[in-house]
Amino acid sequence: MNHSHGALFLISAPSGAGKTSLIKALLQTTRRLMVSVSHTTRAKRDGEQDGKDYHFISHNTFEQMKENGMFLEYATVFGHNYGTSQQWVQTTLRQGMDVILEIDWQGAEQIKSLM
Ligand code: 5GP
Repeated sequence: MNHSHGALFLISAPSGAGKTSLIKALLQTTRRLMVSVSHTTRAKRDGEQDGKDYHFISHNTFEQMKENGMFLEYATVFGHNYGTSQQWVQTTLRQGMDVILEIDWQGAEQIKSLM
């Protein structure tokens, strides 16, 4: 890795552990940190915004993206599919930004064996 390359951080904890508040607080401390917006097949909850909280996509789209190798990691959590965009993470790190992934333990294992 060269000097201009950002660092990748994983945040993985059970729901209700305060991940979201932690990330919010972190984001306010620096401008060189970004959170990856995952793709998911689950339904949008009240107050969530497409493209901000998640990219809400269909099962078909998810399968296609998976087959095309577009996910850095992916997992099924509570019956829904979740995946991290490989291209977004790569591009953002190359721009020198640090990136946070807020993903489950299955995804974290995949990232750890990749990097
Ligand atoms: P929720 O649907 O409640 O937002 O998230 C459910 C779980 O899926 C959480 O543990 C969250 O960390 C995880 N998750 C969200 N996005 C991703 C992702 O892109 N990959 C993986 N592996 N897990 C994710």
